[in-house]
Amino acid sequence: MKKIWFLALPALLAACSAHNKKIENADPMEYANTITSEELKEHLYTFASDEFEGRETGEPGQKMAAEYLKNEYKRLNLPSPIGGDDYYQEVPVSYFRRGNVKPTENVVAFLKGSEKPDEILVISSHYDHVGMDDEGNVYNGADDDGSGTVGVLEIAEAFVEASKDGYTPKRSILFLNVTGEEKGLVGSKFYTDEPIFPLANTVANLNIDMIGRIDPDHEGKDDYVYLIGSDKLSTDLHELSENVNTKFVNMDLDYKYNDENDPNRFYYRSDHYNFAKNNIPIIFYFNGTHADYHKMTDTPDKIEYDLLAKRAQLVFLTAWEIANRDERLVVDKPIEKDSE
Ligand SMILES: [Zn+2]
Repeated sequence: MKKIWFLALPALLAACSAHNKKIENADPMEYANTITSEELKEHLYTFASDEFEGRETGEPGQKMAAEYLKNEYKRLNLPSPIGGDDYYQEVPVSYFRRGNVKPTENVVAFLKGSEKPDEILVISSHYDHVGMDDEGNVYNGADDDGSGTVGVLEIAEAFVEASKDGYTPKRSILFLNVTGEEKGLVGSKFYTDEPIFPLANTVANLNIDMIGRIDPDHEGKDDYVYLIGSDKLSTDLHELSENVNTKFVNMDLDYKYNDENDPNRFYYRSDHYNFAKNNIPIIFYFNGTHADYHKMTDTPDKIEYDLLAKRAQLVFLTAWEIANRDERLVVDKPIEKDSE
């Protein structure tokens, strides 16, 4: 008996360290804190530099941006859900109604869940922007949506750090950087038409589009972010989101643009809507518009990096809760169709 015990012990210890630890024992804030303003800044000064030529869909700058994202996911050892070295989901040119758009691609990376791997949480941003003007001036798109895209990279890194410590999320997470948003939400439309994982198993979409700036309504006020859509399909999601903010972040969650009567109709205007129309609960994280929106002056020096980090942490912590709680989010409300 003794002999067997001594032989079995090292094997047992090795098995324990390789296995996932009980996720309830993890402190998600420890991993949220790996999302730092310094790292976001470093990413964004490259991602929104003139070298990337405004990341116009199908153009060389967008290809450079796609390669940047792919290399970052590879550095994190996050595999592609497509397989091998292929991190690109090709979007056919026939999807574009306007102009002569060249072939383009969504960028995807995947963290497989430990207990419910078939249930997928999608964390998304669009990485394209509007390119250059006829004189070759670059529209850097640092806020739109460089901020959301470097945010997704840092969120991915935080989940990877937790996994390395044995805290792999229960559900799977798809990191989805879509193309063609500025051409009419095309990359996300294609993803939801040809999903890599069944939409029926897609539990939620957290979409980040512009989280690096402060809009005129909030200048000199407390830290905030606009939340749009959180209560549209799932009371559960809305309550989860509120609770996570209260527990960890305590930011002002502004629902001004969530109002059905708001003339901006932002709920229908970024990539999350392609998920929402398929009955998938979503939250859209947004800082509101500002004077530099879709101008050459949307540059990385104007980003509020501490606030960008805090907002990305809120998305990470919300994702953590969705991915790790026992029950899948409950959809309890009907879809609101875009009537326009
Ligand atoms: Zn945008």
